[in-house]
Amino acid sequence: MFIEFYGAADEVTGSLHRLHVGGKDVLLDCGLFQGHRAAADRLNRELPRWALDADALVLSHAHLDHSGNIPSLVKRGFGGNVYTTPPTRDLCAVMLRDAAMIQEQDARYLNRRMGHEQQGKQVLPLYDVADAQQAMERMFSIPMHRPFSVTSGVKLTFHTSGHVLGSALVALDCTEAGRTVRVLFTGDLGRAELPLMQTPEIVSGVDVLLMESTYGDREHPDMRQNDERLGEIIRETVGRGGRVLIPTFALERAQEVLFSLERLHDAGKAPQVPIYIDSPLAIAITEIYKLHPEGLAADVRARILERDDPFSPPGLRYISSAQASKALQATHEPCVVIAGAGMCEGGRILHHFNRGLGDSRNSVVIVGFMAQHTLGRRLQERRDAVKVFGVERPVHAQIHTLEGLSAHADASDLVRFARATARAGNVRQLALVHGEEASRAALAKRIHDELQLQPARPKRGDRLEL
Ligand SMILES: [Zn+2]
Repeated sequence: MFIEFYGAADEVTGSLHRLHVGGKDVLLDCGLFQGHRAAADRLNRELPRWALDADALVLSHAHLDHSGNIPSLVKRGFGGNVYTTPPTRDLCAVMLRDAAMIQEQDARYLNRRMGHEQQGKQVLPLYDVADAQQAMERMFSIPMHRPFSVTSGVKLTFHTSGHVLGSALVALDCTEAGRTVRVLFTGDLGRAELPLMQTPEIVSGVDVLLMESTYGDREHPDMRQNDERLGEIIRETVGRGGRVLIPTFALERAQEVLFSLERLHDAGKAPQVPIYIDSPLAIAITEIYKLHPEGLAADVRARILERDDPFSPPGLRYISSAQASKALQATHEPCVVIAGAGMCEGGRILHHFNRGLGDSRNSVVIVGFMAQHTLGRRLQERRDAVKVFGVERPVHAQIHTLEGLSAHADASDLVRFARATARAGNVRQLALVHGEEASRAALAKRIHDELQLQPARPKRGDRLEL
C-alpha cells in the first residue's frame, strides 16, 4: 500500500494523488494546473500512465484545481468511475462544461492570432464540451456518511469539510493482506466561522492524514471585520465616482460576497448602488446552492427552506450575455462588479480590468487565494503595471485584500484540525500537500513542535508507504 504524490504536492494547483492498495489504483482528485502558462499546459496534457489505468477516482470538491482535468483523463482513456458528493456532481456539470468552453475559445483565439489555421499547426483545446459531457457520464454521487466500496480493498466515506458547497473530507479504509489502514484526505479544509458553510467534521480512527496547507504560514483576520471593511471600500469608492471590481471564483467566493452584501444591507451599511454579477457561471452556481440547502450552515438552510433568498442583496443584477457584459464595461456609473476568473487568468474580469485598472477612482478587492505567477497575485503584490491580454496596463486603481473571506483553514485551524484528528484516532503518518513550500515548511514545524508528529512534505513522484 502506498500513496504517490503528483499534483498539488509542493504547489497549490493540479491536485492529483494515487492511492495504491492490493494492486488497485484509486485517484484522489484530478485538477488543473494553473500559473505559468506553458508549464501548466504541459502538465495538464501529460497525465501519467498510472492515472489513465486507474480503477476509480474520488473527487473531494468541484474547484477546478481539484476537478478540472477529469475530462482530459476520460478523453485519454481512463475507464473507471468518478465518485463525489451530490452537490459536487451538480456543480461539476456546469463548471466542467464552462471550463471546456473557455478552452475552446482560447484555442480559437490563439490560432487566429498566430495564423496557425493557415500553417496547419493548430493549438488544440485541452478538452472540449463533448469531452466534459463524457466525463460527467462517469461521475456518480455518494451521499455524506454512507460507506461505499470504490474498488476491492478500498471503502470510501465522505464527511463535511466546510470549504465550499459539496466539499468533502475523503475517508478511505484501505485493506491489503488482512491489514486495514484508514486514510483521510482533506481536499481543501474549510473554517468553523464561514457564514455559509458547516463546520469541518472530525473523523475518528484515522491512521494516515493527507492535509492541505494553503495558508500554513498565515492567520486570517477576524471574519467579522470583513463585512465592515467591504462596506467601507464600497462607500469610499462610490463616493469618488469609482467602481468596485471583485474578481471571484464563481464557486463559493461569489456566494459569500453576495451573502456579505446582503448582511451589509440588513445592517443599513450598504450604499445604494447596482451590484452586477457579470458571470453566467456564478449565476448558475448560485442556483445550485439553493438546490442543496442540506450542505449549508443551519441559518442559511432555514432561510432557503422558507424561500428567503440569502444571495440577493438589493440592487443585484445578473449579466449573462456577452453583449450585456460589453455594455456594462462601457458605462461609467459607480457600481460593484463581481466577475471571474478567480485568479484573474481569464474571464470577463479581464475586460473590466482593461478599462478599470488605470482609473484611480476604482478599487479592486481581492477576496480569494491568488497562486504564484497569476495576474491576481501580481495585483495583490501592488505592481505598478500588469499585463492584461498581453498589453501592459498601469495600475492606478486601489488594490485591497480581504483575507478574512478565505474559505480555507488558516495555520491555527490546520493545527487544531490535525490535533483533533490525532486524538480521535491513531495518526501515525501525516503528509502536507496543496501548499507553496514556505507555507508547508512553517506548518510542518508547528505540527512537529505542538503535536510531536513528523509531517512529510512530498514532491511530485514521492511515495508514502502505508
Ligand atoms: Zn477548493
